[in-house]
Amino acid sequence: MENSAIAEHPMKAIGWAAHDTTGHLSPFHFSRRETGENDVRFKVMYCGICHSDVHMVKNEWGSTIYPVVPGHEIVGLVTEIGTNVQKFKIGDRVGVGSMVGSCHSCQLCDSNLENYCSKMILIFGAKYLDGTITYGGYSDFMVADEHFIVRIPDNLPLDASAPLLCAGITVYSPLKYYGLDKPGMNIGVVGLGGLGHVAVKFAKAMGANVTVISTSPNKKKEALESLGADSFLVSRQEDQMQSAMGTMDGIIDTVSAQHPLQPLIGLLKPNGKLVMVGITDKPLELPILPLITGRKLIGGSGIGGMKETQEMIDFAAKHNITADIEVISIDYVNTAVERLLKADVKYRFVIDVANTLK
Ligand code: NAP
Ligand code: ZN
Ligand code: ZN
Repeated sequence: MENSAIAEHPMKAIGWAAHDTTGHLSPFHFSRRETGENDVRFKVMYCGICHSDVHMVKNEWGSTIYPVVPGHEIVGLVTEIGTNVQKFKIGDRVGVGSMVGSCHSCQLCDSNLENYCSKMILIFGAKYLDGTITYGGYSDFMVADEHFIVRIPDNLPLDASAPLLCAGITVYSPLKYYGLDKPGMNIGVVGLGGLGHVAVKFAKAMGANVTVISTSPNKKKEALESLGADSFLVSRQEDQMQSAMGTMDGIIDTVSAQHPLQPLIGLLKPNGKLVMVGITDKPLELPILPLITGRKLIGGSGIGGMKETQEMIDFAAKHNITADIEVISIDYVNTAVERLLKADVKYRFVIDVANTLK
């Protein structure tokens, strides 16, 4: 086990960390700060495994600081609050997602868009202002400024709502921002994984007709019968894609790897919008002519601000939206990552941290 970080802070913590680009996770002792006056400390109950954790532990984006304790879909129970904390009390059900800091003074922070602040601090693999390293939710407890904590309503189960903290907000925010939240719209969701399956649920709750665009024909029955999608296209079957050309108002693309954009642009109506949320390590080829001839737009979107994250959770509570999860023990995490890479999970792994991390 690695002990290099113990001296930095007074509170001893344990988590699972990757130490190099193999991404292999193993137990790791580290430390967290004491609960500051604006901080909430909470016992981690569950943590989702987002594909971004996998990109990060393998340093696919080139920014990883090792050892890295991933995890940014974290829910738990408050165990301590700082003297200035207003919104939370001990015992509350809370969550934290991808961010633990921002500048609080730029135009973006003032507009509740901390997620786009140039000083935004990621929950793991980054540095706090004092230079110490941030560690994520594959760990026994968290401490974070209350600004970056959200409340989990009582009617949402903790385990199945953990993925809302990243997957949920990442698809909810662009549906709203790009005006793809109007009842009756035809919305496509590319990639039926962690993000994609909650995108289907949010878009349906907003009143859309939803088409899943997937490489996995075996996901069709469930997409239509239990997730509530209206239709299903196998992206590698050209005739199916052709049959839906020019029908969609918007598409949320959650794919984590290289894939062709031209067929997706073709699915859009004139003025349609293709929103990229999946993150590929290499650039994708972008055909321009079909954008111009249909005045189509390609955009991106990254998680969401804290105000919108709480709004999304409250929307989920109102519409009974949670993730479809496979709860695992932390000892299973390396196998889970291998399966995630093969799109072999329906649809999100969630680690039972409280019962299995010793
Ligand atoms: P995931 O559960 O692995 O889902 C990705 C899905 O993409 C797979 O289930 C698969 O769906 C499809 N897919 C995988 N490889 C493909 C390929 N080569 N060609 C076409 N489709 C493929 O991952 P996730 O956790 O939902 O995350 C998805 C992506 O979003 C990741 O890149 C992640 O880093 C990124 N992300 C971005 C943000 C943001 O703020 N923008 C936030 C969170 C995550 P089918 O089987 O249906 O084809
Ligand atoms: Zn994520
Ligand atoms: Zn800022």
